[in-house]
Amino acid sequence: METTLRGVGVSHGVAIGEVRHMGTAVLEPPAKQIAPEEAEREQGRARQAVDAVAADLMARGNLAGGEAQAVLEAQAMMAQDPELMADVDRRIAVGSTAERAVYDAFAAYRELLANAGEYLAGRVADLDDVRNRIVARLLGVPMPGVPDSDEPYVLVARDLAPADTALLDPTLVLGFVTEEGGPTSHSAILARALGVPAVVALPGAGELAEGTVIAVDGSTGEVFVDPTEDKKAQLEASAAERKAALSASTGPGATADGHKVPLLANVGGPADVPAAVEAGAEGVGLFRTEFLFLDDSTKAPSEEKQVTAYRQVLEAFPEGRVVVRVLDAGADKPLDFLTPSDEPNPALGVRGLRTLLDHPDVLSTQLSALAKAAEGLPVHLEVMAPMVADRADAKAFADACRAAGLRAKFGAMVEIPSAALRARSILQEVEFLSLGTNDLAQYTFAADRQVGAVSRLQDPWQPALLDLVALSAEAAKAEGKSCGVCGEAAADPLLACVLTGLGVTSLSMGSASIPYVRATLAKYTLAQCERAAAAARATDSAEDARAAAQAVFSGE
Ligand code: PEP
Ligand code: MG
Repeated sequence: METTLRGVGVSHGVAIGEVRHMGTAVLEPPAKQIAPEEAEREQGRARQAVDAVAADLMARGNLAGGEAQAVLEAQAMMAQDPELMADVDRRIAVGSTAERAVYDAFAAYRELLANAGEYLAGRVADLDDVRNRIVARLLGVPMPGVPDSDEPYVLVARDLAPADTALLDPTLVLGFVTEEGGPTSHSAILARALGVPAVVALPGAGELAEGTVIAVDGSTGEVFVDPTEDKKAQLEASAAERKAALSASTGPGATADGHKVPLLANVGGPADVPAAVEAGAEGVGLFRTEFLFLDDSTKAPSEEKQVTAYRQVLEAFPEGRVVVRVLDAGADKPLDFLTPSDEPNPALGVRGLRTLLDHPDVLSTQLSALAKAAEGLPVHLEVMAPMVADRADAKAFADACRAAGLRAKFGAMVEIPSAALRARSILQEVEFLSLGTNDLAQYTFAADRQVGAVSRLQDPWQPALLDLVALSAEAAKAEGKSCGVCGEAAADPLLACVLTGLGVTSLSMGSASIPYVRATLAKYTLAQCERAAAAARATDSAEDARAAAQAVFSGE
């Protein structure tokens, strides 16, 4: 019988297929004793299993490359740690089976790591993964991790970590469903990057039986278990309809009555530009320059290297707008040479613009690289600072831009509630605002963006967040200046319409979301967007705000 489950849709489209679970079961082998003459054979089995798992991790790393390779190689080294292996041998010598000896030796090592300070404690999950792989091999049961399947499937997991997904074959994975995670979790970002439908935060996902057919609607967050033939046909038809509407909607972003809302792309560097151009982005609304700095966290990239990277992005939008954010180091993006290592609360410490004002040489090099990169190009360059708290911050940034001889508009990101509350005073120093709703939610609700347990408060439909967006947009309007959104909120098509109704003047998002936002915006008039925005703000929860907006748009 068909049943319906509800989670959070984070990547659009419909996927229908059989459930395959990510293998994560912790296998506890029975504590049975072996005879002394069996010890040597068991030690050989243990050694073989460890070597095979290490070789497999190295091979997966080689295929994956980049950051995932480093993680997987570190895991391979853990597997072959000589002290751990000596402990396994000792346990077998006194009567353990190979699998039990591995299980117990890893448990002892785990205890040591868990108590050895924050960094090592963070490696416990990697250690558990290695142990599970070795024990699974010894027991002859399926490996934890990505399912081994030649047929396409819907991947169901508790949550997905980068190492789990490094080897996912996009031609086999029809969609994702996870029990944990939120709109900015790794699973959501990965699903959007692969362009497969995904639903996260689905209670009961873990209990879906292997092989059950499910239909995942990544737009509504619904998952249909054992869908009827009618339901499948209906979902496929509406997905096809949506797709057709998407390809039919091209050109600049605008509401049904022609109110223009430029749709811009969020990029991390030149590699993201082709997707932005293909999606019809009207420019770049957020160039996260820290990716250039993350390659080597011991020093800043040279001015020449920066000029080359900036120019490649600027050249892709000859007549368009490119908004470059200066380095946002600290908190979740620490850089060894800039970020203090002893802050009790890094998200509340020296990060973003604060870091740059402490290191004016890094800021001035970046600004002068930007000035050189834009030389001779007709592009509309705009430069903005992350984490502006008040007018003094905004002035310090604008002064630095002027001192670098930058011919660009200078702006401030609104990521701290104080900046939204006093937006007019900040606008005395800069020419535009850009709302970073990810951090604005984090600071408004005192809810760390990296902590899953507080993800409810990271929901960008929260009416308090909408209030701060409205305040900023109204301030910009009163000052005759612009106020865009470049946080994840802009990528939600319905919320994008609500943001437009709140007075936001441009929307910037990951390129894959642009066609969806463009198509949805084109369906409603500005007056409808304004009514939906007012209805959403009149509620007291994210859920009610979404429902209220939906009701306005569907004419209820
Ligand atoms: C934001 O905080 O909303 C934002 C756009 O910046 P980042 O996600 O890079 O912190
Ligand atoms: Mg931010």
